[in-house]
Amino acid sequence: SRKFFVGGNWKMNGDKKSLGELIDTLNGAKVDPNVEVVCGAPSIYLDFVRSKLDRKFGVAAQNCYKVPKGAFTGEISPAMIKDCGLEWVILGHSERRHVFGESDELIGQKTAHALENGLGVIACIGEKLDEREGGITEKVVFEQTKVIADNVKDWSKVVLAYEPVWAIGTGKTASPQQAQEVHEKLRGWLKTNVSEAVANSVRIIYGGSVTSGTCKELASQKDVDGFLVGGASLKPEFVAIINAKA
Ligand code: 13P
Repeated sequence: SRKFFVGGNWKMNGDKKSLGELIDTLNGAKVDPNVEVVCGAPSIYLDFVRSKLDRKFGVAAQNCYKVPKGAFTGEISPAMIKDCGLEWVILGHSERRHVFGESDELIGQKTAHALENGLGVIACIGEKLDEREGGITEKVVFEQTKVIADNVKDWSKVVLAYEPVWAIGTGKTASPQQAQEVHEKLRGWLKTNVSEAVANSVRIIYGGSVTSGTCKELASQKDVDGFLVGGASLKPEFVAIINAKA
């Protein structure tokens, strides 16, 4: 069975004071030992967060580049992320895709490089509102998943995050049925295009306005294996989301 996975994506938020307080809350919280928890911190605070956060929690970078080093001003590499003692990177987040113009091709290259360097990858996919309304949700998420899949050899290090863009930061959580429907289709795609074993073992997590109020019903869906949480991961309510299954 798949271990429930809850990621916090702090995005470009917090400072040493507020993140330090959040870390104290997490370190002192009673968390379900059957849940894998990973916090995605701003790159400048990765070292700080890893040094303070209890080792039972993973830490993720929110992005990385596709090569180990070189003249790429402003970028960080998987080697550097590993060097800071981190385990994970979030790739293909909708804000990287739509605010910073990252292509499927680049996200695929980053995925391959991060995995080759021993990081776990939280790979994000999701349709925009006009795509959902145009009835092409499935086509969009399958295309995004294919580019990721083409770059993965070891699926044990990959978590697939379904984050409908219309649900991110909007307060409009996908309904449990809407999430389940896409997660089930994604698992079907993996079964057909990768393997049955991978389809059964890969965690598919949901992101988009998850709160302590919406998490339990979402978590009860058969193919929802956890969450990627933005805004609510910066608040003490993140603990309740981690414990959604408890
Ligand atoms: P919100 O939970 O703030 O909607 O953000 C979701 C998200 O983008 C997580 O990666």
